[in-house]
Amino acid sequence: MQKGTIGVSTENIFPIIKKFLYSDHEIFLRELISNAVDATQKLKTLASVGEFKGETGDTTIRVKLDKKKKTLTVSDAGIGMTAEELDRYINQIALSSAEEFLEKYKAQASSIIGHFGLGFYSAFMVSEKVEIITKSYKEDAKAVHWVCDGSPEYTMEETEREGRGTDVILHIDSDSKEFLEEDRILGILKKYCRFLPVEIAFGKEKEWKDGKEVETEKDRIINNTKPAWTRKPAELKEEDYKEFYRDLYPLAEEPLFWIHLNVDYPFNLTGILYFPKIKSNIDIQKNKIQLYCRQVFVTDSVEGIVPDFLTLLHGVIDSPDIPLNVSRSYLQSDSNVKKISAHITKKVADRLQEIFQNDRTAFEKKWDDLKLFIYYGMITEEKFSERAEKFALLRNTDNKYFTLEEYKTLIKEQQTDKFGNLVYLYATNADEQYSFIDAAKSRGYDVLVMDGQLDVHFVNHLEQKLEKSRFVRVDADVIDKLIQKEEIKEAKLSKAEQDDLVPVFKSNLPEKDNYLVVFESLSETDQPVLITQNEFMRRMKDMAALGGGMSFYGNMPDSYSLVVNANHPLVLRISQEKSSRLTDVLSSIDKELKPLEEELENLRKSVAGIKDEEVPVASKDRMEELEKKTEELRNQRNENLREFGKEFPLVRQLVDLALLANGMLKGEDLSRFIKRSVDLIQ
Ligand code: ADP
Repeated sequence: MQKGTIGVSTENIFPIIKKFLYSDHEIFLRELISNAVDATQKLKTLASVGEFKGETGDTTIRVKLDKKKKTLTVSDAGIGMTAEELDRYINQIALSSAEEFLEKYKAQASSIIGHFGLGFYSAFMVSEKVEIITKSYKEDAKAVHWVCDGSPEYTMEETEREGRGTDVILHIDSDSKEFLEEDRILGILKKYCRFLPVEIAFGKEKEWKDGKEVETEKDRIINNTKPAWTRKPAELKEEDYKEFYRDLYPLAEEPLFWIHLNVDYPFNLTGILYFPKIKSNIDIQKNKIQLYCRQVFVTDSVEGIVPDFLTLLHGVIDSPDIPLNVSRSYLQSDSNVKKISAHITKKVADRLQEIFQNDRTAFEKKWDDLKLFIYYGMITEEKFSERAEKFALLRNTDNKYFTLEEYKTLIKEQQTDKFGNLVYLYATNADEQYSFIDAAKSRGYDVLVMDGQLDVHFVNHLEQKLEKSRFVRVDADVIDKLIQKEEIKEAKLSKAEQDDLVPVFKSNLPEKDNYLVVFESLSETDQPVLITQNEFMRRMKDMAALGGGMSFYGNMPDSYSLVVNANHPLVLRISQEKSSRLTDVLSSIDKELKPLEEELENLRKSVAGIKDEEVPVASKDRMEELEKKTEELRNQRNENLREFGKEFPLVRQLVDLALLANGMLKGEDLSRFIKRSVDLIQ
């Protein structure tokens, strides 16, 4: 028997290993099975080059639980180890690299992806004693029995083993009893070993017999050794891809399409990425891609490995070239990772471009599901944006789809304003903004629909990309203001008449929001009264609502403009009615007000430019008195106008119609409106 101290300088590294990666102890099984797979594949390679001449035989890796003995055993029929190899690989290298590993990553242990590189010694995270019984494939090799109880001392002696291969026997410690439960082990195997290339048996298949679950003779194989991504695309049919998808995500809807990745140079990468149906709520959809390293599951968080927008995809990426024992922040700067990320981005864009070119109708049909993904990619990844400009689509209110270039050509003629800017009109809700859309269309303009989760951001993105172009929501102002052309119409209402109507309309506006009453010289056939919301303000509020960090705007009350058509017959009628009812009252107030205003104006002029302390006290007093007086009279005037506004039902009717057109008339106001409408018709 050989006794020795394993090649570590630290007094006892095992307590550290046990504590290390506290939450992730389960990976010990992945590590042991990976070793078993490696040993099996090495044997197959040796056989294929003629260096191993014996029978390969059954190479199934077997995982066995013995609850009584409190052991978990992983057995393989791989190359095995000679005593000398065991001494070198386990006593010297494996355990000393454990120490090195710990030294290096102690500080950032928890951020290391999948905690790869722990290797054989991770067995000590869950065991009080570990045994290895191994026999090399080499002729005349003797089997070896190695035992280590978690201190740096081990024993090694010759033993018997039927056939080549290795058994690693873990004596599970009392803190880790969970790893003696069949379900727990099955769960771990399913998670990490589902697609390993060598068959892994864990117990026997079970079946129902006479109302009881009984074991059959058949091995329970827990893995699919040839998952779709490891096969050649030419071998696979559409159904195979779909089946694999169902295998990965049993509850998901059918994917839209997929990309089979297969790169040998300058890095190694295989995988299948699926485009899922993504309708809304990006966050929920993220992180469905599984990362594998040579068919061993590593993690389902590919953050830092692929650009953020690609984390919306589903599927599998398998690459031995992604460094797995480094922290995430380091990952992003790794040159291989950068190349892989750029490659995947390019492949995704190429695939979309291909589908767009080959079958535009099908692409348009899928657009609503793809849109969020593509817009997200364009907003966040410059490289993707450049490629996607060719196939990103815009949809108008007639449900027609256009590329950016096509749409520009469509609207160029009509929607260029007098400053030479191309104005893109859009609606966020075709029903609510219907009257504005209608007004735009009557001018021969086209209106886009931008009703998706990311559309506000996408509009900002396009504005930055496209030269001399502006996006405005169709209800941001009256249409002739949104796209200003040369001709300016004379208004039928004079400035003074317009001013008089401001309080008349104001008295009928909802108090909770801010309204600015403005007059526009629109066509007689346009709406008499409209409500618009400033584009900038609204967009800032929309972004704030999306969590864009603009809470300042989010907290502002909504502010709108009430636009009164200064040429509409109904508005003129209100003005006339006002005159006939109020002429006497107003002119008597005006008679008093005008001279006072003039006097005040003159006084102000006379003191302009004079230092405050040099202004005669008498003038100051007089001015103050005049200010008070005129203000009183103006208030009186306004009060009369407000009274009139409240009494004359047509005013409220027009305001309500405008609110109604914007979907802003609700509850009691709506029911009053209906009653009033009936009265007005009678
Ligand atoms: P790694 O697998 O990263 O090299 P490990 O600590 O897991 O590190 O294993 C150290 C070495 O021990 C392996 O490289 C291999 O040569 C040998 N080894 C481990 N497990 C087995 C096994 N089941 N069969 C044959 N050799 C093994």
